[in-house]
Amino acid sequence: MIQKLTETISVVFTESGFTSSNCMLVRDDIRLMIDSGAGKALAEADPGSIEVLLCSHHHLDHIGGNDLFARAVIKAHPLEKEAMRSCGKLLASDSWSELMDAENFLFSKTISGKPNRLHEPFRVDEDLAEGQVIDCGRTKITVMHTPGHTAGHCSFLFDDGIVFTGDICLTKVGPWYGDSDSDIDDFISSVNRIIDLRPRILVTGHLDGVLTENIGPTLAEYRDRVMKRDEKIFAYVKRNPSTIHELAKLHFIYPEHPTDFVLYWEKSILRNHLKRLIDRGEMCLGDNGRYFAARVERAAS
Ligand SMILES: [Zn+2]
Repeated sequence: MIQKLTETISVVFTESGFTSSNCMLVRDDIRLMIDSGAGKALAEADPGSIEVLLCSHHHLDHIGGNDLFARAVIKAHPLEKEAMRSCGKLLASDSWSELMDAENFLFSKTISGKPNRLHEPFRVDEDLAEGQVIDCGRTKITVMHTPGHTAGHCSFLFDDGIVFTGDICLTKVGPWYGDSDSDIDDFISSVNRIIDLRPRILVTGHLDGVLTENIGPTLAEYRDRVMKRDEKIFAYVKRNPSTIHELAKLHFIYPEHPTDFVLYWEKSILRNHLKRLIDRGEMCLGDNGRYFAARVERAAS
């Protein structure tokens, strides 16, 4: 479904769930889209007519339709380009064998006898850079490098106070920063940067509608879930030194693990919290693979 926000700016809302994402569509002197993962809804935007495609980041739910943009100049942040050549990165699962003790069958070179598309690199023609302005005519878009979810994740600020924040997604399941090069501190800084913008309208890759009210408090609550996860993990480990696999069974991140992917993300997000707690001197990793508290009380954050 396409929802018009202004004369030239629209949102393409996906109806295909979490393996897909919302995209932005600009119909101006230049026809432009941000992200291509809208699934079936993408056809309404006529991808073959689009001249410029901006990629918020490399995850497949955001770039899965890129091949349909045959005419478009495709742009992504340089830190995302290499990731677009990695099956594990595309599927947000770059430490699968380490954390799941098995190979992911979706990483194999062929699936059902056919070459696996994920082993073909995704085309990127030009780099996106912080502060760059994309001029579509009446519509101007400023690129914001908002890392944390991935290293080169970008958000996009339109000149009339509309911002598209990709996977700073504000969904109930909460912030995701489970790649090996995701960074929790960067994620928090990026959310704070969006809050400081005081946007008039906020669009994310995964909410069902646009946000027009309480945008600052909604972003702050979403950001603060990161600290709450830290506190829960620390409080448990202080009493019960544990391996990452033992911690994953406690569902600190996701209330359910309906698929191996969700279990993997529980572990990979936990791993990044544990890394951060170690960097802050609050936790240590023992020879037996168990994490334990390095001191009795946490310093104020
Ligand atoms: Zn993502």
